Amino acid sequence: MIYQRSSALFSAAQKVIPGGVNSPVRAFKAVGGDPIFVKEAKGAYLYDEDGNRLIDYINSWGPMILGHAYPPVVNAVIEKAKKGTSFGMPTQIETKIAELAVSMVPNIDKIRFVNSGTEACMSAVRLARGYTKKDKIIKFAGCYHGHSDSFLIQAGSGAVTFGSPNSPGVTQGTAKDTLLARYNDIEQVERIINLNKGKIACIIVEPVAGNMGCIPPAKGFLEGLRSLCDTHNILLIFDEVMTGFRLAKGGVQELLGVNADIVTFGKVIGGGLPVGAFAARKEIMTYLAPEGPVYQAGTLSGNPLAMAAGLAMLTELNKNEKVFKSLAQKTEYLHKGIAEALHENGVIHTINRIGSMISVHFDKDPVIDFDSAAKGNNDTFKKFFHGMLEHGIYIAPSAFESWFITDALTYDDLDETIAAVHKVAKTL
Ligand SMILES: *Cc1c(COP(=O)(O)O)cnc(C)c1O
Repeated sequence: MIYQRSSALFSAAQKVIPGGVNSPVRAFKAVGGDPIFVKEAKGAYLYDEDGNRLIDYINSWGPMILGHAYPPVVNAVIEKAKKGTSFGMPTQIETKIAELAVSMVPNIDKIRFVNSGTEACMSAVRLARGYTKKDKIIKFAGCYHGHSDSFLIQAGSGAVTFGSPNSPGVTQGTAKDTLLARYNDIEQVERIINLNKGKIACIIVEPVAGNMGCIPPAKGFLEGLRSLCDTHNILLIFDEVMTGFRLAKGGVQELLGVNADIVTFGKVIGGGLPVGAFAARKEIMTYLAPEGPVYQAGTLSGNPLAMAAGLAMLTELNKNEKVFKSLAQKTEYLHKGIAEALHENGVIHTINRIGSMISVHFDKDPVIDFDSAAKGNNDTFKKFFHGMLEHGIYIAPSAFESWFITDALTYDDLDETIAAVHKVAKTL
């Protein structure tokens, strides 16, 4: 395939945009080479600036769960745009999408809309701190909750349990309030809580991790968090920015039957427009301004175009519950095909999968947390990535990302993908 125009556009972009992109992962740093500039997309396919057609396994990192340019969503946005694109005043459509979201997701009474997953998680933590009147939070290494300061924290050195900044610009003062734990290690969480008795406001977790590959929770992990939170008066935040409206209508709370205190959303809930949201039971949400004292606001929050896209998307998912089953079946089919192709060619691998999330790791051991995800052979991943791209298959340009399956994929698309894996596997 030829990627000349993409490369030229990337050069031009780098002159006026830092690194040529508006979000780092897009720059292909982890795999090398120039990123591909997309021109348009329809259903399961991307069409790039060089005229190549690619089968898309990223789908805007999740939102395009029913395919690109999905007509009900596109039409809703067009019709809404004709009537004005922003007012900074209440609109009825905000109540409509809130009612629908609250009816689809278990265990929430009220929802507040924001503009990104980052904003949702940042606000959820502030709400948890305001509600519990405590400062510290626990997060898990390898879980991503957006780029707000409290989350850009890595494990501190040996003796200390608090984290240290993993980006310049994040202060030690902020870092000391974020405690780092290992995903799927409930004993460690308990130790951290006991060392910080009475100080922890919340535990924030991706209930199915999707930002270090796809890592489902070990048996009992989420239940363990729930019970520790209940015992120690800590709020449990499920970051369902990736999993919400993807793994089930009601997200992981429904799929795995564990309740969170606050849930955050993004990605699918916006149908491809910039939307995030956080939700909880009434007694927690009443702490939020203007009802309560915890401040949170947004000029474009609840924007009519964004709400129209989100409402159209949730409406489709709500009336067609079979879609989650169909997605899971396609993902399982893909899993089997990829595993067979890698196995036949003697490529060492581990594949993780749940619902419509899947990740391929080039390591023989189970991938259950950040350390085991980081152990994968990155050189093999790079070759795999570029090999797949050469065959017109677009997967995430980093070994630490899940693939997001869209229901627009046909079994022919999946067979084409599996055939590509067979060819690429021979070169690994
Ligand atoms: C994508 C993501 C976020 C951040 O959302 P943005 O809209 O990129 O700010 C937060 N949490 C999880 C689990 C995510 O996957």
